[in-house]
Amino acid sequence: MARYTGPVCRLCRREGQKLYLKGERCYTDKCAIARRGYAPGQHGQNRKKLSNYGLQLREKQKAKRFYGILETQFRHLFERAEKMPGITGENLLRLLEMRLDNVVYRMGFAASRKEARQLVRHGHFSVNGNKVDIPSYLVSVGDAIKVREKSMSSVKFKERAEIAVNVPNWVQVNYENLEGKVVSLPTREDIDIPIAEHLIVELYSR
Ligand code: SF4
Repeated sequence: MARYTGPVCRLCRREGQKLYLKGERCYTDKCAIARRGYAPGQHGQNRKKLSNYGLQLREKQKAKRFYGILETQFRHLFERAEKMPGITGENLLRLLEMRLDNVVYRMGFAASRKEARQLVRHGHFSVNGNKVDIPSYLVSVGDAIKVREKSMSSVKFKERAEIAVNVPNWVQVNYENLEGKVVSLPTREDIDIPIAEHLIVELYSR
């Protein structure tokens, strides 16, 4: 599946906030938002009032960029969320959170979703004992995600495990064995990204 390969700090600047796409650098004063906290391009510093449509569009773009996915995949998830019982916007965020690359990131095995995506792509993880190298794979409650045997010796995972923080309570992680489990579905309160999902629903309902 296609992915964005351009400069990622530009995406944060466009949304006017940190999207944490570069791992540790995002927490330093090298962050582009700290240095140039205005939109990129010739007219980036001009202030303009957004229309309702503009607000809805920006919210959708922000969500896509947070999770590192493009329009088609995002749209498919939205259609799936619409068919599920409950609130469509929350269903959408829940589906985004349950992507394997996001779960690997949430468990602390990668510094960013982008890195998690690459690690999954390179076949470093198994789900319930089977190798899965599809970042968009949707995990379920009860699934066990594990660093595969041949990747266990990688210093990278040991280092990550030592500094992993902010692991949400809907996953449990055992850093000794480099494995984790999804223990429940994330609630809206568990999803800490600043997105007004109702605006995305409004946009797609036009
Ligand atoms: Fe965004 Fe991170 Fe770049 Fe800062 S360093 S602009 S948070 S990707």
